[in-house]
Amino acid sequence: MPNTYSAFFWSVFARLVLAIGPLLVLTTCAAPLQLASATSPTRSVTRPIADQAAIARAQVYTNWFFAGKSDSLWAALSPRGRRRFPTPGSWAALRAQVLPVLPGFERVLSDSVSRNDTLVSVYQYGIGARDGVTYYVKWVMRPGNFQISSFAASDAGWVAQTPVSDYRPRTKLSLPFQGEWIVFWGGPTVAQNYHAAYAHQRFAMDLMPASDSLLIWRASRGEKVQLTDFACFGSPVLAPAAGKVVACLDTVPDNAVGKFHPTAEFGNYVVIQHTSGEYSFLGHLRQGSLQVKRGDRVQAGIKVGECGNSGRTTAPHLHYDLITRKQLNAVP
Ligand SMILES: [Zn+2]
Repeated sequence: MPNTYSAFFWSVFARLVLAIGPLLVLTTCAAPLQLASATSPTRSVTRPIADQAAIARAQVYTNWFFAGKSDSLWAALSPRGRRRFPTPGSWAALRAQVLPVLPGFERVLSDSVSRNDTLVSVYQYGIGARDGVTYYVKWVMRPGNFQISSFAASDAGWVAQTPVSDYRPRTKLSLPFQGEWIVFWGGPTVAQNYHAAYAHQRFAMDLMPASDSLLIWRASRGEKVQLTDFACFGSPVLAPAAGKVVACLDTVPDNAVGKFHPTAEFGNYVVIQHTSGEYSFLGHLRQGSLQVKRGDRVQAGIKVGECGNSGRTTAPHLHYDLITRKQLNAVP
């Protein structure tokens, strides 16, 4: 979704996704532990002139953004952007949220341009200066005057290369929740599943009831939404298969909607070792909700905790990953 959502769609659940139009910071999951290694496209020299102009302007905006020229950027906002950021200070606050994760690009890898009838979007992909991860910044502009209608920054880059890309899970799993939920992020490509950009969570998924995904959209439109509005918040998280609890954490506070913890990537979690040798990782659990402790044996379907909003996540959901021993080493 990060590569395809339109300017005013809700853009959710990358480690860092910020957008104006809707402004909501919605994030999940873990800091990448290794560089997503993928071949990067190179800058084309045969682009349409209109695209070249848009890219050139986006490059200026990116430079301003990282150089701290917030007043200049604010002056370039469209009326719609101004409604969201009525003062230069409010724009500067947005920047202050981005910089701890993405202080700048070590180098830019590529640009891409997309358009609709009224807007032009430029994605600028690059290697983050702090952690070597592939990020993009996205400038959505009015084609005529290049006023900024929307901005986003995300670490959802390219699919990570892993030694287990054709891995076949051995554990027979049951669903780790009750009722009908959707796979919000899941699948083999980064567009379907931003986790795919990171080797250590290449096949992870984010799960929530469909009604909660609607709430996220409403929150992105500026509506006040509370944690307790989410159907999944506090709902049981179940062991997907029998096994032994080998790691857990239960002390990370739940974030208010739209906020995230700066360091506790997965928040509260339970890791269950199955007899197959594989492990289930259940993350972002509600603080104080764990029903198990390290060393406990659990049966499939047993409640291990509750769905929450702890860690690097801004809206309640369940992060699930079936992981191998080797990958477990990457788990905090
Ligand atoms: Zn996740």
